[in-house]
Amino acid sequence: AKRHGRNRAMPFREEFDASVTQRLQLITQLRDALVRGEFVLAFQPLFSPAGRAVALEALVRWQHPTRGLLMPGEFIGVCEESGLIVELGRRILREAARHHARLVEAGCGDVRLAVNVSAAQFTEELYVDVEAVVREFALPRGTLELELTESVIMDSPERAIELMQRLAALGVGFSVDDFGTGYSSLAYLKRFPIERLKIDRSFVQDLGVDDDDAAICQSIIGLAHSLDIYTVAEGVETEQQASWLRARGCDELQGYLLARPQPFEALLPLLRRGRAA
Ligand code: C2E
Ligand code: CA
Ligand code: CA
Ligand code: CA
Repeated sequence: AKRHGRNRAMPFREEFDASVTQRLQLITQLRDALVRGEFVLAFQPLFSPAGRAVALEALVRWQHPTRGLLMPGEFIGVCEESGLIVELGRRILREAARHHARLVEAGCGDVRLAVNVSAAQFTEELYVDVEAVVREFALPRGTLELELTESVIMDSPERAIELMQRLAALGVGFSVDDFGTGYSSLAYLKRFPIERLKIDRSFVQDLGVDDDDAAICQSIIGLAHSLDIYTVAEGVETEQQASWLRARGCDELQGYLLARPQPFEALLPLLRRGRAA
């Protein structure tokens, strides 16, 4: 009952259904966690159809002192609503970028590093931060990739185009995350400097089961290609989905079938696979 009252201005996320007091406690804990450095990154690879890891997506986790490893669904929403995402996002960007040197050491310097960006982060501050990490870690063009959702881009399209073009000039690439769940048309997206569309997991899930989802995936791939945009399928869990996507020319695959998100060190053997010794 309480949540329909005076708290309406601070919308709750489904995944975090708690009282205002609990919410405020969580914000305090999140602030402390930032100070104590309790956020860690897992990386999930994106693979070429031939099975080579071509990119790593950084996914944040909270190493909570008593509750164990917490997934973003438990805290990202509150970080976004409270504005903490700006500082957290800055740390994540820097931590991800720091791994480029380690990829080079492992002989995989061409593997891209993809970082998720929330709406509240998508401001001039992001440009300043990206410029700083590109310089600090001497990131070659095409190394850093930012994943934006359609709604982040379409919220203020003219401003988004301008910011994306300036970031692109620093050598940053862009993926549209969760593609197909928003309301933008591909033709319209062509106005933005976008390299990739990540087909939302919900469409990939029912490939081979649901004809409509197959039609959606097929038309996203076809239209993207006609506009010189690459496609990535996220949430690939079965061999059936993977072979369907490969057969239709999907450019990159990501999902539990191929690799789960995991600590960077654990991925090193997999990264070296499929490369000349
Ligand atoms: P996302 O960007 O769409 O990330 C994909 C999510 O799907 C990840 O969940 C990943 O672990 C999960 N996933 C990958 N493969 C499969 C699969 O085959 N099957 C299924 N069922 N799931 C799969 P995760 O790590 O819990 O992240 C959830 C969301 O939290 C992300 O969705 C993203 O929106 C947000 N997020 C995660 N890390 C960050 C971050 O560093 N910054 C920001 N701003 N948001 C983040
Ligand atoms: Ca993502
Ligand atoms: Ca996604
Ligand atoms: Ca998603």
